[in-house]
Amino acid sequence: MLDVCALGGVGEYGRNCFLVTDQRTNTRILLDCGVRNGEPEIYPAITEEVAKPIQAVFISHVHNDHVGALPFLAAKGFIGDIWMSVASFEQMSSIRRNWQDKLGITAIDKLHFRPLAKNTRGKRIRLTENLSITWGYSGHMLGSVWYIIQIGEQTLFYSGDIALASPLLVTDKPIINTYDVALIDSGHGAQTMPYHKSITNILQHMTNPMEKYLIPVTISGKACDLLFSLFHELPDRMFIIDDSLHQHLYNHLEHTDNIHNDKLKKFKAMLQSNRLESYQKTRKPGIYLLRDKPSGFCEINTSIYIDEQSPFYKSHPDLEDVQTLTRTIDAEEFIFFHSKQADLEKILDSLHVKTGGLLK
Ligand SMILES: [Zn+2]
Ligand SMILES: [Zn+2]
Repeated sequence: MLDVCALGGVGEYGRNCFLVTDQRTNTRILLDCGVRNGEPEIYPAITEEVAKPIQAVFISHVHNDHVGALPFLAAKGFIGDIWMSVASFEQMSSIRRNWQDKLGITAIDKLHFRPLAKNTRGKRIRLTENLSITWGYSGHMLGSVWYIIQIGEQTLFYSGDIALASPLLVTDKPIINTYDVALIDSGHGAQTMPYHKSITNILQHMTNPMEKYLIPVTISGKACDLLFSLFHELPDRMFIIDDSLHQHLYNHLEHTDNIHNDKLKKFKAMLQSNRLESYQKTRKPGIYLLRDKPSGFCEINTSIYIDEQSPFYKSHPDLEDVQTLTRTIDAEEFIFFHSKQADLEKILDSLHVKTGGLLK
């Protein structure tokens, strides 16, 4: 039996890090290696004993709560390969520079990143005699993927952070649908908020064309979704966005396989439009998507859900999505991650999964 140990990420929002061991085939791998954001950042429970025998790490996407503890893992003695999509791999160089500035530890040089070739998407890749993986896009951000892990005869599904219906990014359907274990993102499982309802709610908060509205964002699929949807809903408005987000949008053009085919033309037109520009401390009317919060704007918080009228936009599965996932993915045992303990209990209560089991 596969042994899955959450070194972080179950019953909390952040530091996603899951150790998968199979005694029989002597296999030991890690799924993601993130920190819990904050001051200070909280690391997953990685000791030298844990780190040294790990053979490989599989990264779902490059958010800090999935990659931020990699330098720590290397400092604890891990020397294996770290696999990720090509789009994630390319985003790692700037993250690596940040680590160098912030941590300055030599362990960073020992991190060995490996890109998963694009033409392997959806195909089984045999890495060792006992270990095969399959990956597909998960729609959460540029380059984010889910994994099917096969160890000996046993199979595991790891959703990574997943979005089931991003207006911009592709979410692949896994080819296998029966697993021994499934690790499922339930990050927004305490509420239900369909995308179209979010956009309707947000639009109700931005009715004045002479106002300066600010949506605080991070570099994420959610920021790109919001921009893409609102840009087309509000054809009379200017959109002024963080320079790093602007750059991130251009990175998508190198990975058009990650974008819905029928949205690509619209996406490119948005990038070329004179209604979209980088923030240069201008104060004209329009919709601002920025990483910091300068004063003098009418702020719209899309991260907090209060009720069904909230301008909340999900970046993880909501309750309905979690139910969809557990219906389409059949597993002997489910592990729900990315939810705080109180939310997790609520989710488990409302789910009718086969065992509803929570492994720890
Ligand atoms: Zn994420
Ligand atoms: Zn996450």
